[in-house]
Amino acid sequence: MSSPIQPILPGATIGVLGSGQLGRMFAIAARELGYRIITYSPENDTPTGHIADEEISGSYDDLDKIRAFARKVQVVTFEFENVPSATTKAAAEIVPVRPDGQVLHVTQHRLREKSFLQENGFPVTPFRRINSLEDLQKAVQEMGLPGVLKTASFGYDGKGQVKVTDLEKCKSAFENLQGAEGIYEAFVDFEKEVSVVAARTLNGQFAAFPVFENAHANHILDVTFAPANISPQLAQEAANLAAGILEKLNVVGLLTVEMFLTKTGKLLVNELAPRTHNSGHLTIDACVTSQFEQQVRAVCGLPLGSTELRQPAAMANLLGHLWKNEEPHWAAALEEPFVKLHLYGKAQARTGRKMGHLTAIGNSVGEAVERVTKARHRLVH
Ligand code: AMP
Repeated sequence: MSSPIQPILPGATIGVLGSGQLGRMFAIAARELGYRIITYSPENDTPTGHIADEEISGSYDDLDKIRAFARKVQVVTFEFENVPSATTKAAAEIVPVRPDGQVLHVTQHRLREKSFLQENGFPVTPFRRINSLEDLQKAVQEMGLPGVLKTASFGYDGKGQVKVTDLEKCKSAFENLQGAEGIYEAFVDFEKEVSVVAARTLNGQFAAFPVFENAHANHILDVTFAPANISPQLAQEAANLAAGILEKLNVVGLLTVEMFLTKTGKLLVNELAPRTHNSGHLTIDACVTSQFEQQVRAVCGLPLGSTELRQPAAMANLLGHLWKNEEPHWAAALEEPFVKLHLYGKAQARTGRKMGHLTAIGNSVGEAVERVTKARHRLVH
């Protein structure tokens, strides 16, 4: 098959905006495939920088420095989507940015994202734009209670979110926005949360990983397992939703769709992330192709790899509080031979900070979850 699109082949250099753990695991996958990596972020001595060939420390607003970075690479992707659109524009003057600035523009702002989804017929919970206390009171009266008030921009892991349970709470909830634009969403009484990580190439090849089922603690992902405990029809529906969204957004690269499964069996899209996702970490140990390798392939114009799950698997996040008293007992966790340890090389363990994760495979999802949660327990007992 001949294609007019020239792939970016191993030996080339990939630029990564952002320098956290997603960039680190991307860099590891890219290096395995023979690529070079340059990471750009405001920080130094970062999880991605430890693996990259070069770490550039600069502001996302320093467009000359961004252009200089782009001149050193053949393609730019990112692991952190909250970069200003001027940053991606400056990089795109020089090399392809994948996914492109338009995908970022939509997905980095909850109102734009939910409006895009609604306008294109993808299922979302009802929502309203909130710019004043009156907006919020009106939304509560029209949509009812409870609801969730979120900042429209820069929110993740439940940051900037308040559950509104009665009309009196509107004032304090609104003040919590601290002048930022907000979005009020009807509260979803969900059965479970699931996610689909999917990739799409420049010539439209699409591949979705199996549906992941996610359990959160304090709004932060705690445990993921695959395959999700849902019917094959629902799994297909979730994959079809992801395919439709990536197509409509014209994504080249990876995009994650976080969804709620309601108690009445309906899927609602909660959030999009134009990148790899915490819920996809188990793909490193459990799938033929990891989400990070898939991102490399998608942004470089290579054919996508198989997303097949080799075995049921579970992932448990390791957050900073595990370091509270002493270094966690790594050897004790690894006594279970089907457990794999991934640490992100972060020097400081703060509460809520994602420091690493454990993955376990098993003959069943139940066995994988038991192995991974037992191993995590042994880290501190
Ligand atoms: P988000 O930052 O939007 O991904 O929200 C973080 C978590 O808060 C989600 O994974 C849910 O557990 C919960 N959440 C967010 N929005 C809603 C909603 N509209 N209804 C119920 N729970 C929600």
